Amino acid sequence: MKYISTRGGMTPQTFGHILLEGLAPDGGLAIPEHYPQVSEATLEQWRTLSYAELALEVLALYITDVPRADLARLCQAAYDPTLYSGREMVPVKPLGEGLSLLGLSQGPTLAFKDMAMQFLGQVFEYQLERTDRTLNILGATSGDTGSAAEYALRGKNRINVFMLSPDGRMSQFQRAQMYTLRDKNIHNLAVRGVFDDCQDIVKHLSGDLAFKQRMRLGAVNSINWARIAAQVVYYFWGWLRVTTEPMQPVSFAVPTGNFGNILAGHIARQMGLPIHELVLATNENDVLDEFFRTGIYQPRRSHQTYATSSPSMDISKASNFERFVYDLVDRDTGQVNRLWRALDTKGYFDLSALRSQLTDRYGFRSGKSTHEDRLKTIRQVHEQYDVLIDPHTADGVFVGQQYQSPDVPMLVLETALPAKFGETIQEAIGEPAPVPRHLQQLLDLPQHVTVVDAEPQAVREYIEEHALLA
Ligand SMILES: *Cc1c(COP(=O)(O)O)cnc(C)c1O
Repeated sequence: MKYISTRGGMTPQTFGHILLEGLAPDGGLAIPEHYPQVSEATLEQWRTLSYAELALEVLALYITDVPRADLARLCQAAYDPTLYSGREMVPVKPLGEGLSLLGLSQGPTLAFKDMAMQFLGQVFEYQLERTDRTLNILGATSGDTGSAAEYALRGKNRINVFMLSPDGRMSQFQRAQMYTLRDKNIHNLAVRGVFDDCQDIVKHLSGDLAFKQRMRLGAVNSINWARIAAQVVYYFWGWLRVTTEPMQPVSFAVPTGNFGNILAGHIARQMGLPIHELVLATNENDVLDEFFRTGIYQPRRSHQTYATSSPSMDISKASNFERFVYDLVDRDTGQVNRLWRALDTKGYFDLSALRSQLTDRYGFRSGKSTHEDRLKTIRQVHEQYDVLIDPHTADGVFVGQQYQSPDVPMLVLETALPAKFGETIQEAIGEPAPVPRHLQQLLDLPQHVTVVDAEPQAVREYIEEHALLA
């Protein structure tokens, strides 16, 4: 399997080559030359596999430059049941009337990002070992991504993590999660500023190419292909768990921010998984809902991006969306270039001529929810089914319910556990969300964090002093 760019300007590359890169050299995103097809017979054979075994089968279709025995070892390590709480790693939690949650948040940081990040940690370490290199991950986080990355990369050889977070602005639980890590390769830097300051510093330092090369800087952001590939696995897993008949259709509802999670669903569908509909749910930041209703894509400026009670979906520009548009325009890279140029010059593009294909050919539906909808849905699910869901998952349930059809099971991807967002849970049901037992003592452990000024120079000096340069 080789990878090409959505903008057409990259010679085909192996998985190992694109793994540690960000954008393709032409500014596009890496995408497989074709989507491997999974037959009905193969799907039936996969019914008895464990999660790690299924991950091996799916990922081996995309990662053909790692020997199968090695890939099996990486999958076993990433999807070791002891890393995930509960009796099942990825449980299906039935709500009622054909609606279930796909429990993707049993991992160490209680959010679905662990599912891909745990694999990324394994395959990064493997690839660095194989090519005798080191990597210093520089990132900014307001919560979920940073902690998932730290828990996936802690203790890994050849990798250091420098994670910037806004000082005093994350929840008590998020701070405890990140700052109590004691691994020598994890560096938490609390920046005296807001999340945007953290992100600006990362952009500034990664934009300094000499510094970037000298310090061997890298990223673990949501455009990383290995993360997308690892997310494809759980669509297969969910389908295998809720169906009893070959080729039985299932719909998925997906709380969406950067379009990473639902892109994986689109890819699973293109591979032949019988997905009836993919229901995209946004919060008040509804740029993608607007696109799937009208065919017009108009990202908002960051000052027009609302801070909502499903904060991990508060994005202005969906970084993975280009990979879907590439398929939508039948992989016409000239067209992709024209569209992204239009974004730069006019601030939007119009694909309304293709609007009917979004549903008829690709199975997409979409909707949005508000703070009130989330509170109502959390309350409703709690009262009706005695299940507590987090605000992001509530976005998915709220919109998913609008597209349910009687004969097709609907799986809502549970993207976080409620314990991470205690305040909104309190507001919805009048009591706090229970914190899993194994995390209760976390709040009492000592925290390790270096506070720095919101200046690139302060972070630059810290990295120069602590970077891993073999
Ligand atoms: C990251 C995240 C999302 C959004 O996922 P995308 O892949 O960016 O669409 C939704 N919910 C939670 C809890 C998240 O952490």
